[in-house]
Amino acid sequence: MSSSLPEGLCDSCAWRRVIRSDRGSMFYLCERSLTDASYPKYPRLPVLTCRGYQRRTEPEPVGRRTRDQS
Ligand code: SF4
Repeated sequence: MSSSLPEGLCDSCAWRRVIRSDRGSMFYLCERSLTDASYPKYPRLPVLTCRGYQRRTEPEPVGRRTRDQS
């Protein structure tokens, strides 16, 4: 997926999830944050170094933002 945002490592990371709001805004959720509080839910971009980085090998799902993700 191409993006105009400077995402750094998150762009190719298996743990990144693209969230689209009803208004068309995009957010990048780090799914590692769901089980490890040391990761930010919405990483400050661009992420240049990350101990949790894992290269994505499959297309990522795109989800809708829900209240519990705010
Ligand atoms: S693990 Fe690191 S590189 Fe991967 S999505 Fe989370 S913050 Fe970005």
